[in-house]
Amino acid sequence: MKVHEYQAKEILRRYGVATPQGHVTDSPEEARQITKDLGGKSVVKAQIHAGGRGKGGGVKLAKTPDEAFEHAQKIIGMQLVTHQTGPEGRKVKKVLVEAAADIAQELYLGITLDRAIGKPVLMASKFGGMEIEEVAHKDPTAILKEPFDAIAGLQPFQARKVAYALGLTGETHKKAVPFLLALAKAYVETDCSLAEINPLMITGQGDVVALDAKMNFDDNALFRHLDIKEYRDLDEEDPLEVEASKFNLNYIKLDGNVGCMVNGAGLAMSTMDIIQYAGGSPANFLDVGGGANEEQVRNAMRIILSDPNVKGVLINIFGGIMRCDIIASGVVKAVKEIGCTIPVVVRLEGTNVEEGKQILRDSGLAVIPADGMKDAAEKIIAAVAKGGN
Ligand code: ADP
Ligand code: MG
Repeated sequence: MKVHEYQAKEILRRYGVATPQGHVTDSPEEARQITKDLGGKSVVKAQIHAGGRGKGGGVKLAKTPDEAFEHAQKIIGMQLVTHQTGPEGRKVKKVLVEAAADIAQELYLGITLDRAIGKPVLMASKFGGMEIEEVAHKDPTAILKEPFDAIAGLQPFQARKVAYALGLTGETHKKAVPFLLALAKAYVETDCSLAEINPLMITGQGDVVALDAKMNFDDNALFRHLDIKEYRDLDEEDPLEVEASKFNLNYIKLDGNVGCMVNGAGLAMSTMDIIQYAGGSPANFLDVGGGANEEQVRNAMRIILSDPNVKGVLINIFGGIMRCDIIASGVVKAVKEIGCTIPVVVRLEGTNVEEGKQILRDSGLAVIPADGMKDAAEKIIAAVAKGGN
């Protein structure tokens, strides 16, 4: 799960991570008042679940409270396009109005899980404020990596090492060490999958402050953090993905035109591969899971069909724990309920396969049976090319 910058900063402050003072608002009037309270200057920052806001025009310096009002008026309600939003952009609902910082230096900090070594890794770079992917691409040695133990936490000697590597000395070094320790503690204790401070700012006075903050959380651990779960913003998520999550379906929308209903993540991945291989393009990833019931299958089919880009559906089921007859009845119910004017190809194999095929035959629906994955992929692509069913 992702959260907004202002929410990430709220969480980080609880752990003692220094951030600029500020408040979130959806009103330009209030942006003016907050700026007055901050001493007359502020930075007005669009709150969306995507980075690159600065370049996209979503982060503006206000030299007076009236300017803050004007910036907020422009930014709130705008469709902000950044390199992370796609060309359609994201609608801004709120702005964070923050004290304008006196920036001497912008650095980069990030913590994520290194799956290869099974440990969180603290990444740091002198090149902050810009896209870290670009830095990593041009000069991988410009990013220092310090893995640490998730149970013992980041050790003070590791924090000192990273602070030195960032070129921080004297009082700034002394402030950076507790900052790093607090960030690492927040990462571990809140079950983050990513905590990123870009830029980490060194002020003219040598203070160490998080100017930006991005935190992603492990969905499987959210039951331990009901306060963080409250931060979920459904408007930032794809509506079909939100709908799918209500039924515990693993659904991810993609931009192709062949809808996929598959059981098991591995089979779902290979189904997407074989569709591409056969010259098509998947419209979604969908794993109905090992033990899906008829109701889930019906909803999965409904969700696939409600995507207007979907011009054909490939159902690829290997009945292990999942029974083919359950899939078949779910599909038949969904199609009868919603109606379906696009071709549907079904490949069933495994437990109760004959019962499943019989249900489909008896339904009177124009489903196209397939033998094997390659045959299924070729059939759906041919059917989509022809149009209709
Ligand atoms: P994004 O990464 O989405 O572009 P940031 O929060 O990193 O958004 O802001 C972009 C840039 O705006 C920062 O690199 C920094 O230079 C400037 N900036 C952000 N917040 C402040 C602030 N409170 N005071 C001064 N400058 C800021
Ligand atoms: Mg940033």
